[in-house]
Amino acid sequence: MSEQLKQNLAKAEGYLARFKENPLGLFINGEWTQGTEANTFDNTSPTDQSYLGKVVAATTEDVNAACEAAAAAAADWAATPGAERKKILHRLGDELEKRAEEIAMVESMDCGQPLRFMRQAAVRGAANFRFFADQAPEARNGLSLHQAEHTNFTVRNPIGPVAVITPWNTPFMLSTWKIAPALAAGCTVVHKPAELSPLTGAILAECADAAGLPKGVWNMVNGFGTVAGKALTEHPAIKAVALVGDSATGKMIQAQTASTLKRLHLELGGKNPVIVFDDADFDRALDAVVFMIYSLNGQRCTSSSRLLVQSGIKDKFLAALKERVANLKVGHSLDPETEVGPLVHTGHYDKVTSYFDIAKQDGATIAVGGKSLRDEMGPGNYVTPTLFVEAKNSMRIAQEEIFGPVLTAIEFDTEEDAVRLANDTIYGLAGYIWTSNTGCAMRMADKVEAGMLWVNSENNRNLPSPFGGVKMSGIGRDGGDWSFDFYMETKNVCISHDTHKVPVLGR
Ligand code: NAD
Repeated sequence: MSEQLKQNLAKAEGYLARFKENPLGLFINGEWTQGTEANTFDNTSPTDQSYLGKVVAATTEDVNAACEAAAAAAADWAATPGAERKKILHRLGDELEKRAEEIAMVESMDCGQPLRFMRQAAVRGAANFRFFADQAPEARNGLSLHQAEHTNFTVRNPIGPVAVITPWNTPFMLSTWKIAPALAAGCTVVHKPAELSPLTGAILAECADAAGLPKGVWNMVNGFGTVAGKALTEHPAIKAVALVGDSATGKMIQAQTASTLKRLHLELGGKNPVIVFDDADFDRALDAVVFMIYSLNGQRCTSSSRLLVQSGIKDKFLAALKERVANLKVGHSLDPETEVGPLVHTGHYDKVTSYFDIAKQDGATIAVGGKSLRDEMGPGNYVTPTLFVEAKNSMRIAQEEIFGPVLTAIEFDTEEDAVRLANDTIYGLAGYIWTSNTGCAMRMADKVEAGMLWVNSENNRNLPSPFGGVKMSGIGRDGGDWSFDFYMETKNVCISHDTHKVPVLGR
């Protein structure tokens, strides 16, 4: 064990101690509570299955209390001037930055993401709050739309209390993306972090409290999707639900919210293609292909899990890729050298490793990896970074979201083939196109079915740009003004110039 890992483990132990001492509760109406029944579940670390503490599982009654607190606080928070909301959200950014190391280490231990990627989590989370904070004063502004004898103007009002339901893959970051614009828009929030990674959601709630958010504006409930998540989506006070999660969960939430007719933003799964043409910048494309599936343990919605590589460079590209994949450093998430950490949970480890046999049964070849590392690395959820070749797009390894450090490579000949293969999936979140031919890039950008496409780049997040998917990857967009459109209702006001003829009946 390196000296640096030893030091990081000791530090992390310090940050995690309090979670082991007392069950992690719920944050409702500005107070921490153990809930009505104080039912708890155990939280464990994917690095070695060690115990991280107990977590209270919210009951329907607890969730109702959180929704009612959010409803009670809604009018005052909506009426708080945008400039004041801006100040509070900047203070929240300060709180996150103060606790950056703690957030990074707790997140790494709770969900297995390597520290090298989590170090920036708090800083980026704070940047999310600051970006939307700066827009809070103008968020209500709409358009002025003129007619000959009427003038219309639009104004936006916060939609009301909203539910934010987040997954375990990068729980802290994803929570800040959703909650920051909701609060900036003037909505109150009930946040439900994923049951497999509850810890940084609690730190976020503490930072919100320390920043001076009024009671009831930010509520946080832990627990299971089928109980706490379901109750949250069904509560009549909740006006909109922002979910980041699995496509199956999105479908359930659509059904659960039907009778209360809620607005939904669903950011769901993906099986994103990275398409490398013969004329691509070889080295940059190779770096991006490796980064976009093996970083964040492949547990990333926008990961490029299908490599479509053109026949002219296929052999050379795959040879270089094999070398890089075999060279990736798998290790403890707190080791600064680690590039790929343990998968979040044993259930997910079982799912990912099951695809090693599925690939062989379907006739693909495992060029690199395809093994559990439990014999070598102990009980943590470690697997070898894996590359499948000789694959067809119809195989399960090309169609199903594996959500691990596992890449399926498929050869194509022509631009038309690339489009056909890219679109032959139920998903449509992201796509990546590598070519030096601008015309080809433009044609591909037009034809590939996805909410987001990057040309000659890995995933680069620009907060004012829209984020979201099509097909089974979701409904709706957030980012910039798209977020405000989601968290606010647009009202049109039409004013007559008193010159038009009012229709007359029954005079
Ligand atoms: P998940 O769908 O199992 O859980 C997500 C959240 O939904 C959790 O908090 C869970 O408790 C809750 N939930 C589950 N059932 C519910 C129900 N019936 N009602 C209300 N809430 C419910 O997803 P996960 O396994 O935690 O995360 C991985 C998935 O998230 C992957 O499919 C991944 O692609 C997706 N994801 C998508 C994006 C994106 O932006 N499109 C980003 C990150 C992750």
